[in-house]
Amino acid sequence: RKWKRFSTAAAVDEVIIPQVQIPYTQHLIDGKFVDSASGKTFPTYDPRTGEVIAQVAEGDAEDINRAVVAARKAFDEGPWPKMTAYERCRILLRFADLVEKHRSELAALETWDNGKPYQQSFNDELPMFVRLFHYYAGWADKIHGMTVPADGKYHVQTLHEPIGVAGQIIPWNFPLLMFAWKVGPALACGNTIVLKTAEQTPLTALYVAKLLHEAGLPPGVVNIVSGYGPTAGAALASHMDVDKLAFTGSTETGKIVLELAARSNLKPVTLELGGKSPFIVYDDADVDQAVEVAHFALFFNQGQCCCAGSRTFVHERIYDEFLEKSKKRALKRVVGDPFKNGVEQGPQIDTEQFEKVLRYIRSGIESNATLECGGQRLGSKGFFIQPTVFSDVKDEMLIAQDEIFGPVQTILKFKDTEEVIRRANATRYGLAAGVFTKNVHTANTLMRALRVGTVWINCFDVFDAAIPFGGYKMSGTGREKGIYSLNNYLQIKAVVEPLKNPAWI
Ligand code: NAD
Repeated sequence: RKWKRFSTAAAVDEVIIPQVQIPYTQHLIDGKFVDSASGKTFPTYDPRTGEVIAQVAEGDAEDINRAVVAARKAFDEGPWPKMTAYERCRILLRFADLVEKHRSELAALETWDNGKPYQQSFNDELPMFVRLFHYYAGWADKIHGMTVPADGKYHVQTLHEPIGVAGQIIPWNFPLLMFAWKVGPALACGNTIVLKTAEQTPLTALYVAKLLHEAGLPPGVVNIVSGYGPTAGAALASHMDVDKLAFTGSTETGKIVLELAARSNLKPVTLELGGKSPFIVYDDADVDQAVEVAHFALFFNQGQCCCAGSRTFVHERIYDEFLEKSKKRALKRVVGDPFKNGVEQGPQIDTEQFEKVLRYIRSGIESNATLECGGQRLGSKGFFIQPTVFSDVKDEMLIAQDEIFGPVQTILKFKDTEEVIRRANATRYGLAAGVFTKNVHTANTLMRALRVGTVWINCFDVFDAAIPFGGYKMSGTGREKGIYSLNNYLQIKAVVEPLKNPAWI
């Protein structure tokens, strides 16, 4: 692919008006769009300019409660958990078809609200969203229990039942994909849902939830409440009538929601939290390929990925060559209006994240890491940051320890396997890792030694509906996607019946 280069600051000040309406800004509760009980609204911003896109209903405890009441009623009295699994499967398939039909509007809305390149939304994220719902539709009629051999004259079986009302709290970095990771398995298992979107990106979830209803979802099964974390989010995490909580976001907030869940009704919680993932390049790797993938692993989605390869460990024998090429690649990165063809990087999500990333860049400079390129804001409005590369990074520097969540690559040097394993694991996080080597034995050692939920070998960020994803250590608990995600949304009931006759005649 040939990218046209926009290297001047002026390029990021050009703003394309997206060709899309904003049809829904109210909460979706019990199948109907409604205002907040308080009548309050809050703005959602265009990260390219900082201007308001729309005013959205601002939910708090009362709206969450209305949504939970609707979800409870839909679970206890509605048709959803009782209909045949095949009927649920058909609704999910019809929904995926409708999303496909509305692909360009949804991709545009996602980019407008979030700032990610339109090509990424349209070519990658919308198709992945559809794929996830096809995948979970396929599971809906394949979930079943077992017969269990038991001592004595008993017939024993397990029933796999939906857990009830699922509360789900999602972040802003992949608004639609996070919706799919959470809503897909919960619906396949027959649960009902109250989902709170991130306050930065409330728009697309409302749009797709409307399509779910058009596909035949009964009212009250999926309820969407927009609003802030400490109000709406906390009310959901601590609600007594929510049977399960699934959360994606920062580790700090993960601790808060876990505590709220424990203090209320001990609802089980799955957490998908932060990371500081190592990306390890050996001297036998294809350097050009490793440079390109390491660049992608960090800069993808403006660096706003929980699994970003944010500590690039490079073997000392190829360090200088790798560094030179990484810097060149970063300087070529096309930053600009995400609606423009060929743009690889848009703005950061909001002023808070933008300031935070710039603070980390200053901290890198102050701690004597070498700033190879970037380090500045781009343009005069919006939240654009130059692709930034630091070399000579040491493990104890803040930029090597904290999740920066921005376009800042930190490159560290290593000598041997034992050392790099120790350093790669010396973090409170354990979400993912990348390993670049042609030596199968090195790869085998690292895949076992790294304390992380995903190891990508000679690749990175390969996501697929069937591949489980989740963290070790403070990166979270539980797995999303794949067969493992179903366990989050099922209760296992053991049923025991005496056998009157002998088992065999
Ligand atoms: P956050 O954890 O504050 O927000 C994530 C979600 O939790 C949002 O929906 C938010 O409204 C909600 N929330 C916030 N406070 C809450 C509370 N007290 N009770 C219940 N819900 C609450 O994350 P953020 O502020 O959007 O981003 C901060 C950092 O989180 C980022 O810099 C990054 O390190 C990390 N992050 C990680 C992921 C990930 O995928 N793992 C995604 C986004 C952000």
